[in-house]
Amino acid sequence: MPTSTRRVFLLGAAAAGMAGLGVNAQAQAALAESDPQAQALGYVSDASKADAKKYPKYAAGQMCGNCALYQGKPGEASGPCPLFAGKSVSAKGWCSAWAKKA
Ligand code: SF4
Repeated sequence: MPTSTRRVFLLGAAAAGMAGLGVNAQAQAALAESDPQAQALGYVSDASKADAKKYPKYAAGQMCGNCALYQGKPGEASGPCPLFAGKSVSAKGWCSAWAKKA
């Protein structure tokens, strides 16, 4: 492979590696409810405070910790969610994109 192609390939591999680390890092900043994307999805760090009037599909018991999109480890207080890249959501949080775990 020509050197320039190889360099691009290696850079790509390094970037992919770093992205992978980012998803797993526990030091991610907690998602703030004031974050514009959090507000757009009605995210709250305490599911019991979800706006049930605005989001009638909310039902007690739904929380990030039992959402299909949640990537935190069981027992941990927070974890990554692909909808909020680079931030961690509270396991007890909720947003309007909540989906039942299969
Ligand atoms: Fe939480 Fe699921 Fe919404 Fe992500 S998609 S913030 S895990 S409820």
